[in-house]
Amino acid sequence: MSYIRTRDIESIAERVLAQANVDSPPIKAEIIAECVCELDIDWVNLDRADVLAAISFFDQKIYMNELRKYELKNNLGRMNFTFAHELGHWFLHQNLVQEKLPGFEDEILICRDTNIKTDNRERQADIFATYLLMPERFVTEQLRSFATPLNDYDLKRIANIFQVSKQAMEIRLVDELKFLHYAQGLYYKSENEAMEARGQQSLF
Ligand SMILES: [Zn+2]
Repeated sequence: MSYIRTRDIESIAERVLAQANVDSPPIKAEIIAECVCELDIDWVNLDRADVLAAISFFDQKIYMNELRKYELKNNLGRMNFTFAHELGHWFLHQNLVQEKLPGFEDEILICRDTNIKTDNRERQADIFATYLLMPERFVTEQLRSFATPLNDYDLKRIANIFQVSKQAMEIRLVDELKFLHYAQGLYYKSENEAMEARGQQSLF
């Protein structure tokens, strides 16, 4: 399995955003797939319910699983992330598939919910999706209009601005970028504030 540096994945995502002329959220991965990558999107029955989507490099097609359509259409954040994930495969793995490198003999990549933790390609596609949908500079800019501490509702609002799930935005802001620090049900902009809140709680 070839190794792709996280930093390189980020610059590829940045390049795609520049190419798509996107300068504010939300980033609509489905539109980028169609208009920038000229990929066709088809909703088809992919047989198994644990399959979210698949991408065929040869046919230049993203197959979305019809069996998950109701769920995805009702969760636009999840759907946007799924499209962005498939774009991750398109930009990161297309050449490897064309060269038929070991592990890339199949021309179609099938993405299951459970693949994410076990397969390197799946993780890379997820990292790409994160950078594509929640670029650091856009996130920084949006966060400015929220006063510290933020609550769950604020986080949901930011997630909606980016059309991602609240969970994805929380991971981006708290775990990855460390722009927010969680304590006692609230999200603080500074680590000190969060530590203070934790300290106060332990006094009781
Ligand atoms: Zn995948």
